[in-house]
Amino acid sequence: MILNLSSGNYHRNIRSSCFNSSTVLSLNPEQIDHIQSHARDCYPQECCGLMLGHIVDVGGELQKTLLGLYTTDNAWDSASESIDAQASEQTLTANRRYWIAPQDLFNAQKYARTQGWDIIGVYHSHPNHEAVPSECDRNWAWPQYSYVIVAVNNGVPHDFRSWMLDAQQQFRSEPVTVSASAVASPLETDI
Ligand SMILES: [Zn+2]
Repeated sequence: MILNLSSGNYHRNIRSSCFNSSTVLSLNPEQIDHIQSHARDCYPQECCGLMLGHIVDVGGELQKTLLGLYTTDNAWDSASESIDAQASEQTLTANRRYWIAPQDLFNAQKYARTQGWDIIGVYHSHPNHEAVPSECDRNWAWPQYSYVIVAVNNGVPHDFRSWMLDAQQQFRSEPVTVSASAVASPLETDI
């Protein structure tokens, strides 16, 4: 499912980010609601999805604008247990991990291109855990992406933070700005 909240004309100036640039992720209240609702619906499992939009260099600051959300299933249980065979038994559940299937990534990229967008990040939830990346999150993170994490305590989302890898492959907190709504009512499109 795609949540398309774009109404403006944006220009794509940059396709990849730079480690040493400062970045800021801009999104609107509907997008936050959508991510938090997904996190609530999936509880006690982790939810996950892809963030689509633009990255523009403004005076040396990389401004990421979230324009669409691509909701995915958490494919951890079905496809990825063998990848992390050394993890302890208790962590091999979708309560503690998320995995986005390659087909979902492909479809999201394809959809993003039709809109003139890129995949700019990934969101997921941490049920009964703080909104701080785990070592597993770090191991599977891509340098260019924003990683939004929603903490969900007993089914209630209560924290929302974005992270990004630095040059040392460590997560650092990424500033988030919440803008006014892009459109009056979200357009939802099934694919
Ligand atoms: Zn995580």
